[in-house]
Amino acid sequence: MKIQFLGAAKVVTGSNILITTGKYKILLDCGLFQGSNELESLNYDKFQFDPKEIDFLILSHAHIDHSGRIPKLVKEGFRGSIICTKATKDLASIMLVDSGHIQESDVKWENRKRSRSHKKPLVPLYTSEDAHTSLRYFKSSLYNQKINLNESISLRFRDAGHILGSSIVELWITENNDTVKIVYSGDLGTKNKPLVRDPEIIEEADYLILESTYGNRLHDNAEERVEKLIKIINATALRGGTVIIPSFAVGRTQELIYELNKYYEYTNELETFMKVPIYIDSPMAISATEIFRKNADCFDEEARNLILNGDNPLDFENLYFVRGHEESMRLNQVPYPKVIISASGMCTAGRIRHHLKHNLWKAKNSIIFVGYQAEGTLGKILKDGADKVKLLGEDIAVLAEIHSIEGFSGHGDQKDLLNWVGAFKKKPKRIFLVHGEEESTNTLAKLIKEQYNIPTITPNVGYIFQADAETLKSFSGEILEPIQRKENIKKELQQVFDQFESLVSQTDRFIEEDLLRKNYDELKNKLLELQRELLDISMLLGD
Ligand SMILES: [Zn+2]
Repeated sequence: MKIQFLGAAKVVTGSNILITTGKYKILLDCGLFQGSNELESLNYDKFQFDPKEIDFLILSHAHIDHSGRIPKLVKEGFRGSIICTKATKDLASIMLVDSGHIQESDVKWENRKRSRSHKKPLVPLYTSEDAHTSLRYFKSSLYNQKINLNESISLRFRDAGHILGSSIVELWITENNDTVKIVYSGDLGTKNKPLVRDPEIIEEADYLILESTYGNRLHDNAEERVEKLIKIINATALRGGTVIIPSFAVGRTQELIYELNKYYEYTNELETFMKVPIYIDSPMAISATEIFRKNADCFDEEARNLILNGDNPLDFENLYFVRGHEESMRLNQVPYPKVIISASGMCTAGRIRHHLKHNLWKAKNSIIFVGYQAEGTLGKILKDGADKVKLLGEDIAVLAEIHSIEGFSGHGDQKDLLNWVGAFKKKPKRIFLVHGEEESTNTLAKLIKEQYNIPTITPNVGYIFQADAETLKSFSGEILEPIQRKENIKKELQQVFDQFESLVSQTDRFIEEDLLRKNYDELKNKLLELQRELLDISMLLGD
């Protein structure tokens, strides 16, 4: 068996790993390279394998740097299955189509320039149509469900706590009566991230492929982030100003909605009388929020409890969604204090740019950055304190307050990564460090060696690891005692049962007329589904 690293090797984008067994070819992720022109040009290179020969693509999560070359893969002949969690499939369906639109419009713009200098027009990497076609190959699986892909390959998704649907992949490959277990971390989240669960602990692996984004960094204290956010909103509103928050449409925006919901619905502090209107101005963020609501089973316990108590944690009284372009433009004509959350997160494109143009030059306003700002982006220039910027063809003075709140990161830091590795009971024989800049992987490699004495490899693009050449015989049977396993399952079952009971005790709510009128079909279908499941469970118990 061979493991070949074809992307996110010494960089953080373009995730793509090829596993070749005697009979099958499996890809882990197929992401877009993002960042510099040089890096992005790699997306146009030929794949270093024949897409027609790939049997399975296992997708860890929907982020474009992990999924963005899927439409290209399908366009070039892939006909296998793309396997991921349901929420990942739902999110990928909007993100890939959006990515297709972006590819088309980038090329259109470039071609206008090229036609003026009589150059041949470029062809987009793929179109939104190609993205639609690729969705046919997606198949979804549940978390924690071990599935056999065929006689020699099994797979299980565990929660990576990074974005909705994100997963750690456990892969068992049997060849010549020998089973090797490969664990691919995907992108690992942080503990206590809003909405999503904490990253799950994995206890055994022969080989571990580990992300290393923050291998050389520790995050600031995350606890104060919401307090800081609310303080800025309230201070700005008191002086009659508007708050602009550039935010990634998928993930970050929903986290903000969730935190604001908690504040406006449950905190009875003086400021709440204001209930500043919050506008989500990004069609993509609105579609993504819908998908979050439909995948509430992936939420953490706190969010699920809110739902079971009758609150929709992604909606509150003073929250408004803005779809239309004109409606978005009108936001800048109304003089009252408000918050506008809009994309793109690094201010490189999208509606955020016209909101900045209308609000940057007034001292009463505030801009809050809640995400990573890459070198060279408008977001980074503002964050660094520019007093003037060029926006949509005009020079705009920067008089608004510029704030930056750390602590909303999607990735675990150095300590989180080391603790996660330390929790393995059966230590991996080797760890491959991917998805990190060189400085970051080097630091992490050194610490892993020091603390756990596990050898690491930081592969270059194209590096092939020949697992069969390893003399060590591997065995990846389950290592937990059956008794302990039974106890764990009992605990999990009890949790599900408690939630079910709590729901049943609220039947009155289901039959409220308003609710019924609004959600009749959906409720009916879900309840029928539940009835079928309950019958299946009764059958099992009757055996
Ligand atoms: Zn990610």
